[in-house]
Amino acid sequence: MVSEIAAADPAELPPWLADTLARVLARQRGHALLLHGRAGDGVLALALGLARGWLCSGDAGRPCGRCGSCRLAAQRAHPDLFVVLPQSMREQFGWPGFEDRPTGAEGDVPRGKGRARPSRQIRIDEVRALLDWASRTPSGAGGKVAVIHPGEAMNPHAASALLKTLEEPPPGTRIVVTAGDPARLLPTVRSRCQRVVVPRAGVSEAAGWLAAQGIGHPDVLLAACAGAPLEAAALARGGVDAAAWSALPAAVAAGRAEVFAGWAVTDVVDALAKLCHDAMAQACEGSPAFFPRTGWPRVPADALTALAAWSRRLGVVQRQAEHPWHEALLVEALVAAGREALTGRRPVRPAALDTLPG
Ligand SMILES: [Zn+2]
Repeated sequence: MVSEIAAADPAELPPWLADTLARVLARQRGHALLLHGRAGDGVLALALGLARGWLCSGDAGRPCGRCGSCRLAAQRAHPDLFVVLPQSMREQFGWPGFEDRPTGAEGDVPRGKGRARPSRQIRIDEVRALLDWASRTPSGAGGKVAVIHPGEAMNPHAASALLKTLEEPPPGTRIVVTAGDPARLLPTVRSRCQRVVVPRAGVSEAAGWLAAQGIGHPDVLLAACAGAPLEAAALARGGVDAAAWSALPAAVAAGRAEVFAGWAVTDVVDALAKLCHDAMAQACEGSPAFFPRTGWPRVPADALTALAAWSRRLGVVQRQAEHPWHEALLVEALVAAGREALTGRRPVRPAALDTLPG
């Protein structure tokens, strides 16, 4: 998949978060913050914006973008800014650090024949590196800031290792943890942080922001991503435009797994789960939420049981995101199961279903 749309800088603050950034920089004095918001609404950009603002040597009450500190932060090279991301996200964003770590620690994917799949977890060695960094003297006068994104990615060992420092960081050190779903954090992590709720983008503002990046039919992609603009932009950058997204229900009903060529498996499973949700809604005479109304096969009311079974299978695969699947076979099997659920017709290659769990 080739896209004309340039890769986004995850640190670029989207316009709907500018007021929140200014407000938090002006009022928030806590040393540990929990930013409660979705990645697709820009919660990482807000966390990095706060870090830049606190470290900035100007006095404008926001990151000036011109001082040495702001420049170092923009180059991802500020010694007083420590960003903890899962390895999978580091690779996605081209973020430096941790590339050469040994694998095989707890929570790791076992190394098979090839390179291990980059971890989607934040592991204890990453938090230990943060604690080591936090114990050093800051290089500048602005103190130090650590950003952990997303907090839910910390495995229990990593989260426990963070607790003491989160409660009482070294003087001048602030820690920002993001979470789309704070209920998935350890209660002891939640209770040590002051919470800031990150606003979602308004529909028209989000659509305008996407259109300004050259993304056509932003309304379709916004619906595809439950209104999360950064996620919609990432979908478009991955080569999935509104027409390709809208064509998925018919393609899956026809068992055409090849429409997902070049997609990451997690994105395929996410799209199929949304498709399944919308098919179930239509079987109950409701409206689709993620896909346009047009382009669907007729979903009969008696498809509900089969759709529920497909939904369960998709859920199992979603929960086992780090399992070393044979990806092409898995996608073929999930699409075959979707075809069967949507149309009641047996798959072209029933043996493909043997790949699936449950
Ligand atoms: Zn500055």
